Amino acid sequence: MRLYNTVYLLLFVYIVAALIFWGISLENQNKSIYELEGMILKRTVDSVQHPALYETRIAELERRRTMGVKQYMGEGGTFLLVILVGAGVVWTSFRRSVRLSRQQNNFMLSVTHELKSPIAAMKLNLQTLEKHNLDTEKRNLLIERCIKEANRLNDLCNNMLFASQIEGRQYVQSKETFNFSDLVEDSVMDYASRYPQRFEEDIMPGCKINGDRIMLQMAINNLLENAVKYAPGKPIQVKLELEGDQIQLQIKDEGPGIPDEEKKKIFNKFYRVGNEESRKAKGTGLGLYLTCKIISQHKGKINAKDNKPTGSIFEVCLPAA
Ligand code: ADP
Repeated sequence: MRLYNTVYLLLFVYIVAALIFWGISLENQNKSIYELEGMILKRTVDSVQHPALYETRIAELERRRTMGVKQYMGEGGTFLLVILVGAGVVWTSFRRSVRLSRQQNNFMLSVTHELKSPIAAMKLNLQTLEKHNLDTEKRNLLIERCIKEANRLNDLCNNMLFASQIEGRQYVQSKETFNFSDLVEDSVMDYASRYPQRFEEDIMPGCKINGDRIMLQMAINNLLENAVKYAPGKPIQVKLELEGDQIQLQIKDEGPGIPDEEKKKIFNKFYRVGNEESRKAKGTGLGLYLTCKIISQHKGKINAKDNKPTGSIFEVCLPAA
């Protein structure tokens, strides 16, 4: 990477230096031709006997010299501009591809972990069930844990599958009018049963939407999952209301919040705040990317704001049916 940067920089400096050198030598050439032609003129036309003719010739010479300077300065300047713009474009796309490949690498690392850890947990729970004759309460607890892990695995697979379908434009969005309030309510109930005493809800009943139920369900689940994951043990508030012809959904948590400079980036593919070592919560950086895609496919908007005194608020605005 450093070698590429150095080679690129050297090449760029060489081209610009060559261009400047070319400009200087043209200027010198032009100057010598002008001086030479001036000398020839002095010999061929007598400035004392024919002052008018001499003046005209000198003026003509001067005009040609100025034209020459303008021409090579103009051409050289345009050429330099093209080189600068081209170099800028190449540089930014190179940086972008390096960043994407780094993020993909991070994604592979975290995805491997995300896939392996629920499988390992389920295996352990099932082996315990198989080996020991446990009482009903303990058995139910282990089964519940297995279901939780299976759900996590299922969400992850859905996100990955869906991301590749969206990229390949293979997903055909279905359109139906349905009760969005019920969808949010069901998702919150599902999470509340898995994470008791964490959720407060204020959901206006009967908000209708026209869109893809599965996609929207996935978007809501991603936001709820993030609130649970990044604000562990803290209360989460879900509010849904209708303002004019817009459905407003707010999911507030009291976690660490998101720094201002990261608020836009978190919607990028594979983007995760911090680096792999500093992140405690596991994830793939796909959830918000997909959520944002789904919301914009429904002609809606999503943004992240600060909760006071701490935490994040994810606001979704969607057109009501
Ligand atoms: P993942 O959770 O799999 O890392 P997401 O796309 O869902 O991927 O989120 C991207 C990043 O945004 C996360 O890695 C996290 O740093 C940040 N983030 C998302 N939701 C929250 C939240 N509620 N509180 C704090 N940070 C969040």
